[in-house]
Amino acid sequence: MTPEELESARAELRSIAAGLRGLLEWHGYAGTDALPASSSIAAGTDAADAAAPAAALDVKPPTPALPAQRGEGGASLPVAPSLPRPVAAPAPVFPPPPPPLALEERLKRLEVLRPRVAACTACVLHETRTQTVFARGNPAAELCFVGEGPGEEEDATGLPFVGRAGQLLDKMIAGMGLTSDEVYICNVVKCRPPNNRNPLPAEMTSCAPFITEQLELARPKVIVTLGNIPLKGLCGVEGITKLRGTWRLYRGSIPVMPTYHPSYVLRTPTPQVKREVWSDLREVLKQLGREPPARRSE
Ligand code: URA
Repeated sequence: MTPEELESARAELRSIAAGLRGLLEWHGYAGTDALPASSSIAAGTDAADAAAPAAALDVKPPTPALPAQRGEGGASLPVAPSLPRPVAAPAPVFPPPPPPLALEERLKRLEVLRPRVAACTACVLHETRTQTVFARGNPAAELCFVGEGPGEEEDATGLPFVGRAGQLLDKMIAGMGLTSDEVYICNVVKCRPPNNRNPLPAEMTSCAPFITEQLELARPKVIVTLGNIPLKGLCGVEGITKLRGTWRLYRGSIPVMPTYHPSYVLRTPTPQVKREVWSDLREVLKQLGREPPARRSE
């Protein structure tokens, strides 16, 4: 071997050594220890990864093989492999929802709820009530009317809607072609506010778990809220004049039709108010898949 040939071989060896050093340094940086199968690595570039949203789901789009880079002495340099791709986090596993309670069990639980309501002292209303007012009608009915809270007659009898407003509500129900056994009637507040004032926000909040549980157990197909207070209590919105006649959803599942409170209809018995209430009730019947009676009784 001539001295020139020897120097040429040394230069080639230096170049190969430099390439290997670079490869080892890369693996040290990337935290990988496996050597690539070949110095020409088929891998996505950062740009290719950024352009491919599928990478988030660990779906590799085909990318062309990169040519090996040329070192100083003309030797092939290995191309750095791409970083490990992010793997999509596994979906969280939630326990399956409990099976729905059978009607019989729900009715049993409603009868357990009733004395719990009767024993409640969570807000000041318990100090002035005669008794709590739970419900009347059929808890298995498809339709539930929800009012605000007991008045004087309700406080005296323990039944909701038995005063003048209740008599009008009964007429509305009859006008829909329904019997008292086809509706369930209750209030968002279970104790009479003194002097029939509106229940205070704090009183509504402390009573709220009762109506929540009551409706969860009765599970009507449609709820009619009467006036502003139950609309606020169940749906968190206010403005009965604007919102009446427009469907809402209670807890994401039960359709709610807001209409005027019968007391308001008694105070303002204009043809327009009566027409609007009747229109709301017709919507309810349609939602229940029932034919509205041809003529309403007043
Ligand atoms: N008004 C209501 O809101 N509820 C009743 O029970 C009686 C009158």
